[in-house]
Amino acid sequence: MSGARKSRRAAILAEMGLAPVWRLRARGAGSAAQESGAARTKSDTVAEHSAASGSPAEREAAIMRMDWDALKRAVPACTACELHKTRTQTVLGVGDERAEWLLVGEAPGAEEDRLGEPFVGQAGKLLDAMLAAIDLKRGENVYIANVLKCRPPGNRNPEAHEVAQCSPFLLRQIGLIRPKLIVAMGRFAAQTLLNSDASIASLRGTVHRFVGVPLIVTYHPAYLLRNLPDKAKAWHDLLFARRTMRSLK
Ligand code: URA
Repeated sequence: MSGARKSRRAAILAEMGLAPVWRLRARGAGSAAQESGAARTKSDTVAEHSAASGSPAEREAAIMRMDWDALKRAVPACTACELHKTRTQTVLGVGDERAEWLLVGEAPGAEEDRLGEPFVGQAGKLLDAMLAAIDLKRGENVYIANVLKCRPPGNRNPEAHEVAQCSPFLLRQIGLIRPKLIVAMGRFAAQTLLNSDASIASLRGTVHRFVGVPLIVTYHPAYLLRNLPDKAKAWHDLLFARRTMRSLK
């Protein structure tokens, strides 16, 4: 590794609070549904209409037929739960729509609601540093999304019916992106995607599956900001995720 690269990595690890104890291993020395850009068609319009007004099963089926353009229209138009009344805007996700890595958080917070992009506040800064520490960058082979596309007022926990209404959108994103690996960040994303009430501690360190895609669990960056000692565990999770990704190639 070049000197400049080494010092960049040292700076990133320091920002994560991991330097000087944690060092990234040398490369390779580890231990251990897409359509887009098409003109709007009649079937898009029918799908969007069913998504807005059909039965829950029709709505879900319609969402599962959407392409990116249709999804990008349907999410901001969604009024399926009360959260549409208090949101400033929806937050669909950000990044490479063909990414191998999909990171999933809980729901937009105040900054995300204001700017329309996931993880743009303090937690987002830490997330970007965590990504950089394993040579990843927001937008480059990485897509970041949340379980919920609207901010729960006052950052309260998402409710079950909100998750039920919103999860078809995430499912469709996964179908379009076709990631190789999903990283669920935090208890809420992990428990929702794995349909489990197990703790993060017990879900970490294992390759789970969500709709057939390998899924790894780690701590939520906002939690890590409040619980600095667990950053080291998150670092292990990232290394585990990177090893897993390599093994999938
Ligand atoms: N927390 C989340 O889970 N998602 C965001 O987008 C921001 C904070």
